[in-house]
Amino acid sequence: MRILITGGAGFIGSHLCDALIASGHSVTVLDDFSTGRHENVAHLEGHPLFELVCADIADEGIVRECVAKADRVYHLASAVGVRLIVEQPVRTIETIVHGTSVVMKACSRYRKPVLITSTSEVYGKSTKVPFSEDDDLVIGPSYRRRWGYACSKALDEFLAMAYWHHSRMPVVIVRLFNTVGPRQSGQYGMVLPRFVQQALKEEPLTVYGDGSQTRCFCHVKDAVGALVKLMELPEARGQVFNVGNREEVSIRELAERVINITGSRSQIRYIPFEEAYGADFEDMQRRVPDLTKIEKAIGYRPRYSLDDIIRDIVEYYANKLGLSLRAGIT
Ligand code: UDP
Repeated sequence: MRILITGGAGFIGSHLCDALIASGHSVTVLDDFSTGRHENVAHLEGHPLFELVCADIADEGIVRECVAKADRVYHLASAVGVRLIVEQPVRTIETIVHGTSVVMKACSRYRKPVLITSTSEVYGKSTKVPFSEDDDLVIGPSYRRRWGYACSKALDEFLAMAYWHHSRMPVVIVRLFNTVGPRQSGQYGMVLPRFVQQALKEEPLTVYGDGSQTRCFCHVKDAVGALVKLMELPEARGQVFNVGNREEVSIRELAERVINITGSRSQIRYIPFEEAYGADFEDMQRRVPDLTKIEKAIGYRPRYSLDDIIRDIVEYYANKLGLSLRAGIT
């Protein structure tokens, strides 16, 4: 098949390219390199099954052309990272809402199956864990910038579902929970690449708040495997699925584990949220996926534990930073 991946030069998109090309599909990446990086797909350039189109997701003509040629569309192009979201709130909303509208319109015109990547952020401030696909979405007030991301992604979901209801357009929605792994950048806020780089450089690990907030981290390879299976499952159309890992960890414990695994002499430094992300910021205390639905649908079982994930990221950044792993590494 010929497969279009919007945002294919991003962290998750580039792993999806690898998986699809390894299965013999030909892949077109549409990316504007705003947060995507050439180095993520550099190893694919020149590959006969790989094509790169450098364009904005808002460019209707190019999106239409790419969609027309594709058998499947994975829509991953988005603003990413809490830091980018609070620093560029207008661009965040425009990219997410307008971009998805352009992609959906093109997919509808040519009736192409499309998978929309949403986020666990849409569960917002909900305190009922684990989060299930049938839960209400509890998004915070509009004067707090971070909720612009969740709200835009929720709107994307409603738009995709509207196409499904209107014309049974083949669409699947996936809510990704803290997807991590090699190639993820810490530039836009993501905690694991930041902690790993800080530990390898023997700098303090910056824990925001008191570190009691929890997350469940999912290896990008587990997430990508789920995306591919859901795309090909006819019963998944018109449905929303959580994709993640159940292993819950506090951010304080995460910092400790990174320090232990790297054998670093780094200390932990606690930074108030307001200092990290501005006075209007509020974090979520717990974020845990209910995976019952995806387990039933595709027999989903994540293969990577949190320690496996940390080791993979450490290896990636140790190579990238040109550091030899310390002798005491476990
Ligand atoms: N975080 C942190 N230090 C950092 C970056 C993030 O303590 O240098 C915290 C952040 O406040 C959140 C958690 O780690 O509570 C996960 O952050 P991330 O940005 O990776 O994902 P989020 O779950 O917030 O989308």
